[in-house]
Amino acid sequence: MLTDSPDSQSPAPFKGPASAQARGTIDGAHEPLAGLDRDALFALDARHVWHPFTPHQAWRDDDPLMVVDAEGHHLIDADGRRLLDGVSSLWCTILGHRHPHLDAAVRAQLDRVAHATFLGNANGPAVTLAARLIALAPEGLSRVFYSDSGSTAVEVALKMAWQFWQQCGEPGAEQRRRFLTFAEAYHGDTVGAVSVGGVDLFHARYGGLLFETLRAPSPSCYRHPDHATQAEAEEAAVQAFEAMVARHGPELAAIVVEPGMQGAAGLLSQPAGFLKRVRAAADRAGCLLIVDEVAMGFGRSANALFACDTAGITADFICLAKGLTGGYLPLAATLTTERVFGAFLGAPSEGRTFFHGHTFTGNCLGAAVAHAVLDVFEKTDLLSTLPVAADHYSALLAKLARHPAVGDVRQYGLAMAVELVADRASKRAFPATARVGMQVCTAARDHGVFVRPLGDVLVLMPPLTLTAAEREALVGALAAALADVLGPIAEA
Ligand code: PMP
Repeated sequence: MLTDSPDSQSPAPFKGPASAQARGTIDGAHEPLAGLDRDALFALDARHVWHPFTPHQAWRDDDPLMVVDAEGHHLIDADGRRLLDGVSSLWCTILGHRHPHLDAAVRAQLDRVAHATFLGNANGPAVTLAARLIALAPEGLSRVFYSDSGSTAVEVALKMAWQFWQQCGEPGAEQRRRFLTFAEAYHGDTVGAVSVGGVDLFHARYGGLLFETLRAPSPSCYRHPDHATQAEAEEAAVQAFEAMVARHGPELAAIVVEPGMQGAAGLLSQPAGFLKRVRAAADRAGCLLIVDEVAMGFGRSANALFACDTAGITADFICLAKGLTGGYLPLAATLTTERVFGAFLGAPSEGRTFFHGHTFTGNCLGAAVAHAVLDVFEKTDLLSTLPVAADHYSALLAKLARHPAVGDVRQYGLAMAVELVADRASKRAFPATARVGMQVCTAARDHGVFVRPLGDVLVLMPPLTLTAAEREALVGALAAALADVLGPIAEA
């Protein structure tokens, strides 16, 4: 503290409303690009930025985009290149970019309040959103806990399930301390979410930092050396899962599962009826079921808003993020039941509170844009167009499947994967060092499309709203890129 002048110890008396100057008001809008061109922006990036899931020594060779604008389903980079966004900007901009209704919702909310803490307080947009989500959610879900990413939505479900069994007072509850997860699962990058993940490339490195889970085999067996057919291998995997649940039932707090496909492992398909069998196994074991709908919720299943409804099941927790705000703002939600919520009630002194909350929990701007997303689902015929779009993609991808380097084409609604292999008969992979998937995705830019691979799996997670012509352009660009890198598709 400065003590050299007597005045510095007694602040000037407050003289009414803060002036514009005191609030930092500045004439004119901020220009975030600071007038810099592509090269200057990349020079700054090279000096100061660390990108997620990015091998930095090689990333500039992959011709990354420097996005500065977007319009509809297209991203626009600093050179003015327009690229169809084939992965909905990491699977979240489900209605494309600059959607007029979503833009208007954010602008209108800005005129009211951008953020007001949800810790011990409430705000209108997040409260009304909770009621709307519950009205639409699978049966039995009645409570919404907000956070800000898919990872935190899962983290919240894990901690709630863990604490539920300590507090519910049900017989044998204190023994329920283990989570059952699947090999090849991905639930996010926070430490709890990584613990329930099973993609060794991403997760093995953090081994010592994680809690242990019971890990069932992945239900997806494209490679199945021990079985005659893929279907047999998948049935054996599901039976192994069921046997694990039967053996460990009384110890299980919850089973954690991605519905429809295991996303980040390479969009791995699940055999028909898989989720119903997972639900039934959880019921037999008397444990909770956490369904991570972060990637597959909000219409991706091309059948219903939520993948649980597509599968005909409900869950004790569903985790939502990504499409919840149309990819506009980081808002996530963990939905659960009255049974779970009830175990957290009690006098404050009992310490039954859920001790978890993030600064941006219940963010007003995020909630406002999530309302706008629900408007689009409720007030337009979008949902009813999705099965037609999914069928259109199937037809387009069937042509791609004839390419000798395409080992497998997988589709769950509007989530699609094309797995590239060096040899189709043996399913031998290309050497990882060749980065064939990345080469094809880079080549796709020359054909007007932005896509990102997962290893040698080409991923298509387009906005739900692409026109038929845009769907053709997307798959056509992928076929052209494949031909550029690996030779043409043989004509039938
Ligand atoms: N769960 C699933 C199924 C996901 O696909 C993802 C992200 N791809 C996450 C969780 C994590 O979401 P976030 O990146 O928003 O933390």
